[in-house]
Amino acid sequence: MVEIPMVDDSSPETLRCTVCLLPMQYQSIKNEKFVWQCFKCGKQYYVSKHVDDNFEESWSPPR
Ligand SMILES: [Zn+2]
Repeated sequence: MVEIPMVDDSSPETLRCTVCLLPMQYQSIKNEKFVWQCFKCGKQYYVSKHVDDNFEESWSPPR
């Protein structure tokens, strides 16, 4: 069981995978970004800590 550290920045509470329309899971912080991943298709979102800044999507196939 991984405990999700609560960051009291304005991290979004839920993101939805644009493919599956399922709620995504918060994974970790990487390169100053919140990493969210869809548990179903593996799609990842990188959400900048600076909210209005940028929002990236990436798709990481399972290795
Ligand atoms: Zn998905």
